[in-house]
Amino acid sequence: MSTVRFEALREMERREALKIEFPEEKISSWFGCDVFGREQMRQYLPKAVFESVVLAIEENRRIDRRVADQVAAGMKAWAMDHGATHYTHWFQPLNDSTAEKHDTFFEPMWGGGAMENFSGDLLVQQEPDASSFPTGGLRNTFEARGYSAWDPSSPTFLIDDTLCIPSVFISYTGAALDFKTPLLRSMAVLDAAAVPVSQLFDKEVTKVVPTLGWEQEYFLVDEALYKARPDLAQTGRTLMGHSAAKDQQLEDHYWGEIPERVVAFMKDVEMRCFRLGIPLKTRHNETAPNQYECAPMFEEANIAVDHNTLLMTVMRRTAVKHKMQVLFHEKPFQGVNGSGKHINWSLATSTGQNLFAPGKTPKGNMQFLAFFVCALKAAAEHGNMIMASVATAGNSHRLGGGEAPPAIFSVFTGQTLNEVLADIEERVGGKRGLSSDEKTGIKLDIGKIPEIMLDNTDRNRTSPFAFTGNRFELRALGASANCAMPLIVLNTAMAEQLRLFAAEVERLTGGGAKKDEAILQVIREFIISSRHIRFEGNGYGTEWHVEAESRGLKAMTSVTAAISEYVEGRNMELFVGMGVFSKDELEARYEIKCETYLKKVQIESRVLGDLAVNHIIPTAIRFQNVLIENVRGVKELFRNDGVSMTHSEMGVIKEISGHVAAIRELVHNMVEARKKWNVVESIPARAEGYEVEVEPFMAQIRTHVDALEMIVDDRLWTLPKYREMFTI
Ligand code: ADP
Ligand code: MG
Repeated sequence: MSTVRFEALREMERREALKIEFPEEKISSWFGCDVFGREQMRQYLPKAVFESVVLAIEENRRIDRRVADQVAAGMKAWAMDHGATHYTHWFQPLNDSTAEKHDTFFEPMWGGGAMENFSGDLLVQQEPDASSFPTGGLRNTFEARGYSAWDPSSPTFLIDDTLCIPSVFISYTGAALDFKTPLLRSMAVLDAAAVPVSQLFDKEVTKVVPTLGWEQEYFLVDEALYKARPDLAQTGRTLMGHSAAKDQQLEDHYWGEIPERVVAFMKDVEMRCFRLGIPLKTRHNETAPNQYECAPMFEEANIAVDHNTLLMTVMRRTAVKHKMQVLFHEKPFQGVNGSGKHINWSLATSTGQNLFAPGKTPKGNMQFLAFFVCALKAAAEHGNMIMASVATAGNSHRLGGGEAPPAIFSVFTGQTLNEVLADIEERVGGKRGLSSDEKTGIKLDIGKIPEIMLDNTDRNRTSPFAFTGNRFELRALGASANCAMPLIVLNTAMAEQLRLFAAEVERLTGGGAKKDEAILQVIREFIISSRHIRFEGNGYGTEWHVEAESRGLKAMTSVTAAISEYVEGRNMELFVGMGVFSKDELEARYEIKCETYLKKVQIESRVLGDLAVNHIIPTAIRFQNVLIENVRGVKELFRNDGVSMTHSEMGVIKEISGHVAAIRELVHNMVEARKKWNVVESIPARAEGYEVEVEPFMAQIRTHVDALEMIVDDRLWTLPKYREMFTI
């Protein structure tokens, strides 16, 4: 074993799990203690100010400057009482991480002395010099200013000594440069479209918000081993490495006993999350070795997105404290399962109803069906855009791999619901006016709906978008991604269908139809026009590919092709028409997605080239020299029959030469391909060039490297192997 690997493994052995215990007090008594939430606001703000903030949050209204000044004063007092010295606008630029620039409250005064200052102006808006964030050309460098503005609907919180203010991030001209701005816009249009449809059933409803419950998968790797793997450290995944003889075949890791060191890490994460008001509920082992998952209780979508990004930060930091690294990459290890982030999505009303939950009464069930078919139609019309929103370099190694959802978008509804939909389609039959028998039949069908809760407990795990009894679950998002983009697509596409639904009902009732019958007719229309997106079978089967094609559904296997949906006519019309993105913003996002993809492939290709040439080849040659020496020695000792005795060694020497030569040539050709595409001006074209002509080299190079790993003396191999990284 090489010295590097030996030291890394020794280092691991010496590590003991940190002892982490929850405080004695009940969690509920300290949950959210680092958040400036309702309780804290009540304590630190004058009553009138508190009430106007709450009202502004509930009704999406602006907070006026005078009120902002008082909020800032209360926030500062609370933060300083909790040891804060700094504050920052905390936002989510378009690079799947969060951004923060800390400023101190402390300010020296003219003529000596100093004070702690934090005004409403500083709370409401900041102007970070932010020319290095991805903008996709939305901001020229001569007007490099970007603005971050406070989002009062997500509470401020404390990390260490810094007050973090959740914010949106926009350009000088007001264009969105982040995830939160369009998410909030999509929530507003969804609210506006959903309320009238809800009111067809319940006049009391005044507001509808999307809810999100994410499930976060991740890997843990010991820090010493991680640092000895330059590919893992620089790209987040291993670009080479032969599979371990034993990995997940025995399925003994999934929901298995959680290792002590990992439990300590999880508890530590939970403790920090609880303080930050993140309602984590579950923790368990996932399928692959060293793979785990956590999930919270669902929340209002904007807050849930903030909480997921915050969780990822907390996890990264906590892992370092425990001498581990957390991997959010979608496919850190070839040959074992990758990591996704499930998006459980539903709609909640101001009256406390879940609109995707079947009701207890026929009326409630009609309402459920109305919303349900709108979701089906939204998925049917914009399924490709949903896939575009999850398409990234990392996720491309996972989607369609027989462990995650296939690259073809479809919706699973479950058998009972499927039958109900088929019956409605048939019975209502496009007729005006139903006989009383028909009405009874429909009532019976609709009455079956509550059973779907049972039906869906044993649900289809191969579907990218499954109805799971009281919510939809999108399983195609990658573990490292921000949850916002698929939510933006879902909310906006849903809003469009709800608008159409309401308009259609109005048209029919205007023409003299009774309200209930009009609703049923429209439900039927929507069932028919979304039929092709429903699929109950095995999404991993090859038959599905054939069938999907006949239905006109595309397999989104190419990342660059998938993301071109951002600028496809129908999607542009949707987003621009609903006011969620301007044309410029969409084009910018398209460009950023292309650029991020191409840069990631470029980095991986460079790292792989370097490692192959300066780690693998020298190691292989060193071992080859040992063999050559051996052959020489054997031949010398056994002059007469030495040749036949060295036959097998000679074979290995040749094999090594073959792999080394192949690696050299492939790396050379890969570099040439990069050079060719690097000079191409258009970013989408360059990205496509990288996908088609650079990326394929990586798998080819890896094959030779992994073969060498099996040949070369273990003591000489410099990089930690899969079987070693799979220990914790
Ligand atoms: P599974 O692994 O079976 O999908 P989990 O318990 O891991 O289930 O995750 C389910 C997730 O769905 C949780 O985050 C939960 O809060 C969320 N969820 C439940 N109901 C809703 C809802 N109405 N809206 C959004 N998310 C929901
Ligand atoms: Mg799930």
